[in-house]
Amino acid sequence: MITIKSAKEIAKMQKAGEIVALAHNAVSKAICAGISTEELDSIAHDVIVSKGATPSFLGYGGFPKSICASINNVVIHGIPSKDIALKEGDIISIDIGAYYDGYHGDSAATYGVGEITDTAKLLIETAKKAFYAGVENARQGQRMGDVSAAIQQYVEKKGFSIVRDFVGHGIGKALHEQPEVPNFGTAGTGHRLYPGMTIAVEPMINAGGWEVKVEKDGWTVVTIDGSLSAHYEHSIAVTHGEPLLLTVER
Ligand code: MG
Ligand code: MG
Repeated sequence: MITIKSAKEIAKMQKAGEIVALAHNAVSKAICAGISTEELDSIAHDVIVSKGATPSFLGYGGFPKSICASINNVVIHGIPSKDIALKEGDIISIDIGAYYDGYHGDSAATYGVGEITDTAKLLIETAKKAFYAGVENARQGQRMGDVSAAIQQYVEKKGFSIVRDFVGHGIGKALHEQPEVPNFGTAGTGHRLYPGMTIAVEPMINAGGWEVKVEKDGWTVVTIDGSLSAHYEHSIAVTHGEPLLLTVER
């Protein structure tokens, strides 16, 4: 079931979203060679809790940490660990969720550690721009396939591939709600978009092929060919006018 949120609910989601943005800001400032992904997890956890919110991912389906920290060929769901330290030239995707006053916010971004390759830079930039290409279509009267197709076309034009096995999602009282928000598809198809729909749009893109697999820990998703992967996500609301980004500082 797709839930339509009232203006009051969307205002609450903006509060949850702002806490996610504050946590991203703190983590992004701490990223450097030598820091462990567990330290980054603690930084995000502390920001979320200090604002009276709860980390959405902690305990979700048994996930053991507050953020996902996914380095290089790890696509999503990397588990923070004191044994995993960042190295110069790595890229790291940070995914953060916060639950506040009954609603979730969910946002991800990929960051470089020191100097990174031109390919890595372009991959990170493409994930972000593909997100905006998709969101530009998240308007009243358009269809989900318009969002999906815009993302896919942008990414493939740059010579990268779109992950198929994981998709964006509705968000609100639950972290994952209907509908699914694929990052690939056909314009003019799928659910019609209505004001009050709140969705997490989140392209996951690979420098090589789109195929991925889950590691033995049951969480860590990696590219099959070992290529780099980047992720960009905000929770957004469809409105009567411009799409509204929820997971931002204001
Ligand atoms: Mg996320
Ligand atoms: Mg998400």
